[in-house]
Amino acid sequence: MDHCCKVGRLSGEYALKHGVEGRRFDRYLADRWLGRRDYTATGLRPLSKALNHKLLKTVYNEHGRNALETRVESDYEVLADGDESSALLDDLDSDGIDGRKLQREFVSSTTLYRHFTDCLGESKSNESGTGDGESDWESDKVDHAREVLRRNVSQSLRSLANKGRLPEADTAQIKTEVILGCPECATQVSFRRAVDRGYICAEHMSTADAGTEPKTTD
Ligand SMILES: [Zn+2]
Ligand SMILES: [Zn+2]
Repeated sequence: MDHCCKVGRLSGEYALKHGVEGRRFDRYLADRWLGRRDYTATGLRPLSKALNHKLLKTVYNEHGRNALETRVESDYEVLADGDESSALLDDLDSDGIDGRKLQREFVSSTTLYRHFTDCLGESKSNESGTGDGESDWESDKVDHAREVLRRNVSQSLRSLANKGRLPEADTAQIKTEVILGCPECATQVSFRRAVDRGYICAEHMSTADAGTEPKTTD
């Protein structure tokens, strides 16, 4: 069997599908990348992570291992980290899962990008002005920062749980939303939503009102 690349091979070998319609998972990710089908345009890092999560979930289900989102997420963090994963590798082994193989199967954002562009022929064009197609390295950068934060918090929680200082802390969901606030008023909005809607505060931080309502104070 010929596959376009690693992503194509994984999609085929593990039959990775999305949703009830059974859409190919890589195409679903491409839709999210480009912000098609009502998806919010999403950076490559979270998308490659989504693919790796999907892979873990699929293998877990095949082997009857608990595939709850939180479990998959925390296992993924450990496997992706590489170093201190040996306890987990043993645990996976007892479920008949080859953890080292999984680690090798994980896809980087670069690999995913090449699959989107070279294999699926997709591209994010920069020409359409303030549209969906714009390159969003800014969002990628923030996503990356959030991921580093998440990983560090997750490591701390694991340790606190092990020491008994925060029971079950390793199963907690970690939210790393970046919240932006208007310097003039109480308006707060997540970074992502601000980028989506194109402003942080409609009243004080938008260009739309320039000149329409001259301020008459002073
Ligand atoms: Zn490919
Ligand atoms: Zn404001």
